[in-house]
Amino acid sequence: MRTTVQKLKILDYVNHHCGHITAADVYEAICQDIPHVSRATVYRNLNNLAADGKIRRIEVPGGADVYERHSPPHYHVRCVRCGRLFDLDMPYFEQLQAQIRDPHGFIFLGHDVIFSGICPECQAKETKQAAPPLP
Ligand SMILES: [Zn+2]
Ligand SMILES: [Zn+2]
Repeated sequence: MRTTVQKLKILDYVNHHCGHITAADVYEAICQDIPHVSRATVYRNLNNLAADGKIRRIEVPGGADVYERHSPPHYHVRCVRCGRLFDLDMPYFEQLQAQIRDPHGFIFLGHDVIFSGICPECQAKETKQAAPPLP
């Protein structure tokens, strides 16, 4: 019973959060709501929700996995400075899979693409720092 309530709160939080959040962020937010909830419980519920397809987990190379509300497949860009992930507005290449010549016997389930770049906020910070000091 308790587990269900916690799971629903976690699902609700991810669904109402626009963007991408790490398990640590979800844990901090859920703590405000349910004191004494353990980190392991939050992480386990996130895993279960992702496995059930209720939310999406994106594995970020060299960074913490992030979660986002269930959404149609889409691509991401990651800021190399702050590490945040953003959705990209571009077509999803369903046909990409059909072009694989040597499938190694795999059953393919999908693919993820993460572009890298520098977000506008980090660009602005860098421009400010690079600007010569005012007289
Ligand atoms: Zn950034
Ligand atoms: Zn996304």
